Amino acid sequence: MKNKRVKYIFVTGGVCSSLGKGISTASLGLLLEGHGYKISIIKMDPYINIDPGTMSPYQHGEVYVTEDGAETDLDLGYYERFTNARLTRKNSVSTGQIYHTVIQRERRGDYLGRTVQVIPHITNEIKKRIFDVATDNDLDFLLVEIGGTVGDIESVPFLESIRQIKHEIGYDRVMNIHLTLIPTISVAGEKKTKPTQHSVKELMELGIIPDMLLCRTSDKLSVEMKSKIALFCNVSEHNVISAEDISGSIYEIPYMLHKNKFDDIVLKHFGLKINPLKLPKWDKFIKVIQSPKKKVTIAVVGKYTSLQDAYRSIYEALVHGAAANEAEIEIIKIESGEIESDKKNNLKSMLKNVDGILVPGGFGDRGIAGKIEAIKYARKEKVPFFGICLGLHCAVIEFGRNVCGLKDANSTEFDPTSGHPVISLLEEQEIIFDKGGTMRLGAFKCQLKEGSFIKKIYGNRNFVMERHRHRFEFTMRYKELYEKHGMAFGGFHPESDLIETIELPGHPWFIATQYHPEFKSKPTEPHPLFRDFIRAAVKKKTHS
Ligand code: GLN
Repeated sequence: MKNKRVKYIFVTGGVCSSLGKGISTASLGLLLEGHGYKISIIKMDPYINIDPGTMSPYQHGEVYVTEDGAETDLDLGYYERFTNARLTRKNSVSTGQIYHTVIQRERRGDYLGRTVQVIPHITNEIKKRIFDVATDNDLDFLLVEIGGTVGDIESVPFLESIRQIKHEIGYDRVMNIHLTLIPTISVAGEKKTKPTQHSVKELMELGIIPDMLLCRTSDKLSVEMKSKIALFCNVSEHNVISAEDISGSIYEIPYMLHKNKFDDIVLKHFGLKINPLKLPKWDKFIKVIQSPKKKVTIAVVGKYTSLQDAYRSIYEALVHGAAANEAEIEIIKIESGEIESDKKNNLKSMLKNVDGILVPGGFGDRGIAGKIEAIKYARKEKVPFFGICLGLHCAVIEFGRNVCGLKDANSTEFDPTSGHPVISLLEEQEIIFDKGGTMRLGAFKCQLKEGSFIKKIYGNRNFVMERHRHRFEFTMRYKELYEKHGMAFGGFHPESDLIETIELPGHPWFIATQYHPEFKSKPTEPHPLFRDFIRAAVKKKTHS
């Protein structure tokens, strides 16, 4: 059943990728919430993979994990950080999923001998997924971001589906926003509208007339420029707005867009009253990041530090944690491979001036030795250390080798023949044939032990729910030995006893988690672990 009330906003992208479609969509979600509306957001990705779980970070950046364990596009991370929408696997749709469902149905014989076609079978499945999210939640608006760029072969069925939706449910309940680029030719100092004209033409050929053009530009568009774009693209002049580059943080983008009347135009389009924008928590956060009182430097030692987006949620959670301490953060990205190749000379000079070290998650053995060296340094020099997932594995290996005397301590992920497999596969997953969908994924309960440091950080809560994405775990038979040598285990999974967190009493801040707390941190609700890690880093800085 189609929800009667919900209004649909489709966001498409033109000219090229990386224009900030995800952040613009998330910003609109936040602004609509600030006007008192309830929203949700779907990302539709035209690639044929079922999900990005099997893709390399080089191809895709971070894999974001939802509470219910879906491996999704990192845009869902922006949606959750910016808005109150509760996202599930239904909010992340790919061509792969759509075809998978339709082909399964065909094999079952559900199509009763009919020829299965893109229109209507594929497009019906796409529309069904959109309508399902709308009916599941009591929404005012459903925002749907179509991944890729208009003109890509892969995105045609999605665009055809949104064309059909407008036709079916009525123009008054649908809005099409097209994000496009107005490049500046630097030698001539001139802005060019032609790529936008072409992109809109392409959209129109598919039967979609944009209601608004959001134009990414280096600086604000002039009135003349806007009227030229409006004339050539058949869009009202008032509905051509700039999304200019800003020098500040991404969290200031919603306000830039609000100033440019992004939300006003949307509300007007639907004939809704424009209540004043109320975002008190967001305002507070922006004030802090605009005038920090101190500075803190954190090293992130990882394998993909050269990629902007591979650890996106971690970088953002660090920013939130820093703001919670009224601090500005400098993140130093260190390739663990570099530490490895020049251990002794490099390590000290690289980490000398940092106030905290974070080792993020990852897969495979490249760069592990460097991560272990960085952790050894943090442990011995009493530098605040935060390990996440693979970061926990490396901390356990380091402690095993250098404190417990297990010279060949290792994870079976890196050495399946290790004499001391202190990290190993989950028992029930000893044999893994399928790489896709075989992990411990999504939120699990973590029980916090009385008297542990981590329990205190979580405000003495008995349980927390945190998100996972991994196959390997601490091997329980080593627990006693580790405890004897001074490691404490503050958090565990109540039903299975699996170790979820480790800590080192006596160290100013040494915590690693099997789960990924970064996925639940928001600017308006910084994650307690990130907040406290930064507190400890600030403290170290002021005492050294
Ligand atoms: N590669 C490790 C595992 O599969 C860690 C995964 C991670 O850091 N997300 O368990």
